[in-house]
Amino acid sequence: MRFLPVFLDLQAGPVLLIGAGELARAKLRLLAAAGARIRWYATDGNHDVSGLDSAGAARIELAEGDPLAADLTGVIAILCAGAGDIGTLMSARAKAVGLPVNVMDDLSHSTFIFPAIVDRGDVVVAIGTGGASPVVARRLRERIEAVLPARIGDLASFIGRWRKLIHNRIPEFPLRRRFWERVVDGPIGALVLAGRKDEAEAALKDISDPTAFAGGSASGRAEGSVTLVGAGPGDPDLLTVKALRALQDADVIFYDELVSPEILDRARRDASRVPVGRRVGKPGIGQDAINSLMIEAAKSGQRAVRLKGGDPFVFGRGGEEVEALREAGVTYSLVPGITAGLGAAAQFEVPLTFRHEALRITFLTAHKARDAQTVDWSTLTDERMTVVVYMGMTAAPSVRAGLLAAGRSPQTPVGVFARVTRPDAQAAVGTLDQLPALVEQIDRGPAILIIGDVVAHSAPWRHPNLNHVITQLLEAAE
Ligand code: SAH
Repeated sequence: MRFLPVFLDLQAGPVLLIGAGELARAKLRLLAAAGARIRWYATDGNHDVSGLDSAGAARIELAEGDPLAADLTGVIAILCAGAGDIGTLMSARAKAVGLPVNVMDDLSHSTFIFPAIVDRGDVVVAIGTGGASPVVARRLRERIEAVLPARIGDLASFIGRWRKLIHNRIPEFPLRRRFWERVVDGPIGALVLAGRKDEAEAALKDISDPTAFAGGSASGRAEGSVTLVGAGPGDPDLLTVKALRALQDADVIFYDELVSPEILDRARRDASRVPVGRRVGKPGIGQDAINSLMIEAAKSGQRAVRLKGGDPFVFGRGGEEVEALREAGVTYSLVPGITAGLGAAAQFEVPLTFRHEALRITFLTAHKARDAQTVDWSTLTDERMTVVVYMGMTAAPSVRAGLLAAGRSPQTPVGVFARVTRPDAQAAVGTLDQLPALVEQIDRGPAILIIGDVVAHSAPWRHPNLNHVITQLLEAAE
């Protein structure tokens, strides 16, 4: 991000506009509609403001003389549109005194740029592309326009009017936030959005105990909770709507090392983020300590999210955590996530079941060779069973040995799928016999193994030349 979106207070002073023609007039319309005071130097001497309503026109001061000698006292920003070479000179002047300046279509001389705007009164959405593509910004704007309720601005101003009063009645911040969330998400918010402001006003006035309305305890504290959230295998677009909401409502997030930064980016900005992951070879903080952290957070009234890669209940120790929360009497809930095996299946087109061919799926873990030795491979002999192995990279030789000993054919198709759904995903496909060699070719984990005839339907098997695919197929065929 090169340009940080900030909102300029148009009441603080005039904006200097320098330029002429349609470009300058377009900016005049934008600024006038936003309520700015504008001091306009028309570089071609033509101060025609036709097309603006009288209120807009009244805010424009028609300035004469050389803009390069203009008095900049009190000016809040400088804008050059259709100003020719004066734009460059003006930019230097503005930079020298530290005033924000925009020279239209000239990024190198601009210290700010105009976003695409969705304007709903008090609610304003700014969309920027760092100047790279106004078309992308406009398309995005259309999409946001389409999903934003028409009266969302009314809802913001409605809350704005009541804020102070509620502030006095609910001094505790987390509880106050929850109060407003319930207003926004509940019937009162719906009334405002439906244009029934008077009824909304009456309903808000009717709340006799705001603390109770906010879900606070008798002592006036916010009630804490823990939500175990499955973050999916990496692609943030694979978060469920519920997961996103939990992340947006969280006060604190305890996350695993498997959770990608792109997913954390979708969380509420003010939420504290606590890494609690174990890296292979490094101990991490330990399960008991994680449990205590979650319990403490909930007991202190916070909304904690325990964010885990994939699904919390698939090799994620979610079961143990829920048990600890239950014992501690903490309120908790669960949001499932897309487990890595399903992410791999979708991305690389491995149908985990297939009519007549694959009628069963087994998810198993073989963390270390030691674990692999405890797996009862004899239950996996059915060739119409797809076997999905989590944490199986280092144990790959034992997985191969176990399955071969159980009578699975060395020609059984297998795939190693790494970092699935992430931009650097990688696949290696071949035969069971080749499994350890396939794993060797993967740059780094996490990776999942899928073993079974269904792998022959997968995209990497069908298109061995895809560039993120390593294949041993050709060799095997020979
Ligand atoms: N709860 C997680 C699994 C945690 S165990 C889930 O449901 O996905 C960790 C193992 O999951 C890793 O060793 C790897 O086998 C697998 N895994 C997790 N994320 C993955 C990814 N993006 N790509 C491939 N495998 C992944």
